[in-house]
Amino acid sequence: MREETELGKTAKEYMDRGDLVPDEVIVGAIAERIDSAEAADGFILDGFPRTVPQAEALAAKLDELGRGLTAVLLIDASDDEVMRRLGGRRTCTENGHVFHVELNPPETEGVCDVDGSELIVRDDDKPEVIRHRLGTYHEKTEPLIEFYDHLSLLRRIDGAAPPDAVADELRRTLSTLKLEADQTV
Ligand SMILES: [Zn+2]
Repeated sequence: MREETELGKTAKEYMDRGDLVPDEVIVGAIAERIDSAEAADGFILDGFPRTVPQAEALAAKLDELGRGLTAVLLIDASDDEVMRRLGGRRTCTENGHVFHVELNPPETEGVCDVDGSELIVRDDDKPEVIRHRLGTYHEKTEPLIEFYDHLSLLRRIDGAAPPDAVADELRRTLSTLKLEADQTV
């Protein structure tokens, strides 16, 4: 999206409305990156897949590429907590640096600490769009928890913990998985 490719522009239109990007748009783009040199040692998909059909399409594609998933990380949080976290998010217009009015406030209100550019509420962080996103989440994405739990890939992280603790927990989980993967090679 930042490079403003055709694919990126199409994806942004959907996301600004709080809707999901069509599967064929996103699985195609992801497959290209996973099959490139930069993903030879591994990859993290952040926020994808978001539906069971996407997870199935991804599994088929990974199979084709001779790759697979080591784990699926669920950052678990209530709707109220999600409203608080996303609703307070402020994004820098120049470079996308992210702040939070309560949890990670900038030195000066409305101004990016790093580059001095203006901080805004992204279209998809507006309250009515967040509510729409949560509705979409419960309907389309939540079933993935069971989907990946059945495959024994799911790891739960407490998303209500402070941001630093969530980040630590993610790092710990990933390092443990890496150790386990290295031992089985
Ligand atoms: Zn910035």
